[in-house]
Amino acid sequence: MISKSMEELVAGSSVIRALFEEGKQMAAKVGAENVYDYSLGNPSVPAPASVNAAFCQVLAEEDSLFVHGYMNNAGYEDVRETVAASLNRRFGTDFTGDGIVMTVGAAGGLNTVLRTLLDPGDEVICFAPFFGEYTNYIKNFGGVPVVIPADTRTFQLNLDALDKAVNQRTKALIVNNPNNPSGVIYSADTLKKLQAILEAAEKRTGHPIYVISDEPYRELAYDGVQVPFMSLYIKNCIIGYSFSKSLSLPGERIGYLAVPKAVDGYRELMDGLTVAGRILGFVNAPSLQQRMIKRCIDEPTDVEAYDKNRRFLYDSLTEMGFECIRPQGAFYLFMKSPTADEKIFVAEGKKHHILMVPASSFGCPGYVRLAYCVSYDMIQRSMPAFKALAETYFG
Ligand code: PLP
Repeated sequence: MISKSMEELVAGSSVIRALFEEGKQMAAKVGAENVYDYSLGNPSVPAPASVNAAFCQVLAEEDSLFVHGYMNNAGYEDVRETVAASLNRRFGTDFTGDGIVMTVGAAGGLNTVLRTLLDPGDEVICFAPFFGEYTNYIKNFGGVPVVIPADTRTFQLNLDALDKAVNQRTKALIVNNPNNPSGVIYSADTLKKLQAILEAAEKRTGHPIYVISDEPYRELAYDGVQVPFMSLYIKNCIIGYSFSKSLSLPGERIGYLAVPKAVDGYRELMDGLTVAGRILGFVNAPSLQQRMIKRCIDEPTDVEAYDKNRRFLYDSLTEMGFECIRPQGAFYLFMKSPTADEKIFVAEGKKHHILMVPASSFGCPGYVRLAYCVSYDMIQRSMPAFKALAETYFG
């Protein structure tokens, strides 16, 4: 028999997966071209040709035993140095290879950090709206997720509520910038205020409070908006990055953790992260992926297609009367449900074969998320369905 806790997780498992299944059934009935699936954050832009070429070059040019073998649990030294040097060039930071741990995507990185930091009962703060898996990851290690409600005026971090929530048991915060699902980028000003609050809280509680910066969308920003680089604003931060979205490689499972030398307990942290990755069963990040990353670290992200989708979808839906947050980053549009219970709105959407994710699953009821990492063609084809949906609410 499986554990009680696992039974609960299976029962509550992903609304998004369920939508995906529903979409397949709908497609079998009405034809795939008549289903408008905005549920999944799977990149629609193919991985750059240089990535595929790099895999071939690694296999042709590098020693096979080295490429396929075990290495330091934190990753190949030369790859970690390459990552550190790239961050330093781009952001003026001073990472060293020693402060980098190659990970199995962002999810692997987050679990590695939480395994390292948490004792049972320790609290981890999440800012709504947030990536729904965070609460599962925190509970994996006996941690207690504490959800800070969204500031629905700005969708920036709700810092007033944070100040009240921090206490002796607070071990860490997870901050996801640019944000999935809101598409908002937290500004430099927000991060400066966050640092001031944390500094005071660290004095009060007598221990460091780490900001786990989850950054799989760091390269996906539009309209010239800059994503402030976390370690330039927050002292005790651990950066988690992934190439899943920036290089369209979600199935390959490759990312890294970057820890600035200035964080409290740097050495213990690095030792902990290295052992945590091993004992969680990752052992190390996939070796071939690491070798590819060494060659492609500065490969730019192609955001043009997402940007085109973003502008068209936002303009069209707002014109129809829907209230949307104009996304600055990532590839999600956050839309206010015209009914207080967004699940009713989602069900109404399904009648028109539109699949949207209810934002209760992101800790922010009353909103829905549309992933626009889909084809432009599908977005265009979905417009009559959205018009019909709009008429239900706005006449
Ligand atoms: N964090 C956020 C905010 C995400 O949206 C995702 C994936 O969609 C992840 C983490 C997991 O990313 P990865 O595929 O790199 O594990």
